[in-house]
Amino acid sequence: MTAFAPHPLPAIFVGHGNPKNVVRSNPWTDGWKALGAAIPRPGAILAVSAHWYIPATRVTAMPHPRTIHDFGGFPKELYEIEYPAPGDPALARRLQELLAPLAVEPDERWGLDHGTWSVLHHLFPRADIPVVQLSIDRAQPPSYHYEIGRRLAPLRDEGVLLLGSGNLVHNLEAYAWDQPGLGAFGWASGFEEKVKDLLLSGQEARMVDYASLGPEARLAIPTPDHYLPLLYVLGARRKEDKVHFPVEGFDGGSVSMLAISISD
Ligand code: ZN
Repeated sequence: MTAFAPHPLPAIFVGHGNPKNVVRSNPWTDGWKALGAAIPRPGAILAVSAHWYIPATRVTAMPHPRTIHDFGGFPKELYEIEYPAPGDPALARRLQELLAPLAVEPDERWGLDHGTWSVLHHLFPRADIPVVQLSIDRAQPPSYHYEIGRRLAPLRDEGVLLLGSGNLVHNLEAYAWDQPGLGAFGWASGFEEKVKDLLLSGQEARMVDYASLGPEARLAIPTPDHYLPLLYVLGARRKEDKVHFPVEGFDGGSVSMLAISISD
């Protein structure tokens, strides 16, 4: 399946933001490139993307996942980008084994959505590392996603990079479409600071129960899809791990581009 790494691989949450980042060069994309170059080369990548949010737990099991252009109204060049990384059916089976008796359905139809490939395009531009995607079961409570992360933690010792792709703060209703350079709204930066403090002090349970984090949480997480990938990464955290924020900043005032890396 994969080469075994001498050290556990990190678990990383990336704020992917606007799909246009895939063709842009900015401090966020520079940060993703630097991050990809800095970590040990993974044998495979397990991605949990905000954009595969369905009422089931599925894992891509095909040898050649397609690149899904799951967005509308963007420049033509975005639709022409392919991320031809191979799949990893053996990793999909290993994941099923780790999560048993939970029934994880093997999937042959999905592929890599833009939450995954728009970021991997910068992290690992050669697209030569196998990638498997795990869906987010929208019918389940936050604790379910955290628990899956916990059970997948051993993969970090098997050369697998766990990648969560969403956005810690993701409120498109508040997004300043005409002012992308706008600084963060007070509630947005307030929520991000709160979560950073919880991360640095190891208070995972409070992040799992994010709805209790006050009115800022309701604005930052109007729907759970972009937040939940973080819970998988948190679940894979070990006591001795450190937390880093390799990419920071806000887009349009209400989308946090914060990346969170958890590593020994
Ligand atoms: Zn998104």
